[in-house]
Amino acid sequence: MPILILGGTGEARELAAALHRDNVAAISSLAGRVARPRLPVGEVRIGGFGGPEKLAEWLGEERIDAIVDATHPFAERISASAAQASARVGVPLLRLERSGWSARDGDRWSWADDLDGAAALIPPGARVLLTTGRQGLPAFASVEDAFFLVRCVDPPDPPLPSHHELLLDRGPYTLAGELELIDAHRLDLVVTKDSGGALTEAKLDAARERGLPVIVVRRPARVAGSAVVASVDEAVAWVRARLAHPG
Ligand code: NAP
Repeated sequence: MPILILGGTGEARELAAALHRDNVAAISSLAGRVARPRLPVGEVRIGGFGGPEKLAEWLGEERIDAIVDATHPFAERISASAAQASARVGVPLLRLERSGWSARDGDRWSWADDLDGAAALIPPGARVLLTTGRQGLPAFASVEDAFFLVRCVDPPDPPLPSHHELLLDRGPYTLAGELELIDAHRLDLVVTKDSGGALTEAKLDAARERGLPVIVVRRPARVAGSAVVASVDEAVAWVRARLAHPG
């Protein structure tokens, strides 16, 4: 019986590859938000399930043995949905969530509770590298007196900040590339979610090197109830243990 991997992250792709190498049947699920997603190896399904009840039904239909929720730390709704569906049908759930970033010597970070809080911290006249993702851009649309270099994977829908330039790109990013971006656009502030992980960390190194402040949006509270691991290896071990001792 297959494992369901709720994906959309590098860790989810690594987990799919590891289970594939171990000949463990797994289905990776993507939301379908990104036009050309990086696909994991193995079986993939794309699109929302239609809420927790529908997900619970789907788990039964597909005879899913266990769920690994490896979605992004800020993807709150699908994690809540997975927790509810898991409880409803008794399919075990593991949360695979990479650790957040930690400030180092030389960092000038301010923490915000959410995107609105981050927008409120932007000083007048700032030139901002905005990396919080396409869906959260409306929170910054009313900031009139700053320039935003908006970096996201796919073109965003309005509303957008009035003074902005769009940069469609996706990681992994390098320190050299981030320094070049900061210098070329005369950026003096970075705004990011506390996504964690190595693929997009270079902006923090570049900000430290140039002495720039960074506004970091705190992670939402984690859904309580399921086991949590921070690494793909631990998730593989959990799946192996689950397969060795089902029930
Ligand atoms: P979200 O707000 O938690 O989810 C919104 C809805 O999208 C969910 O209710 C669910 O629809 C569907 N969905 C989300 N992830 C899914 C998945 N892996 N498989 C099937 N359906 C999924 O999620 P989000 O913040 O929009 O993120 C969407 C996806 O992008 C996630 O898979 C996440 O891992 C990835 N991602 C998110 C961020 C971020 O900053 N939020 C960054 C990088 C990658 P139904 O209710 O219809 O089932």
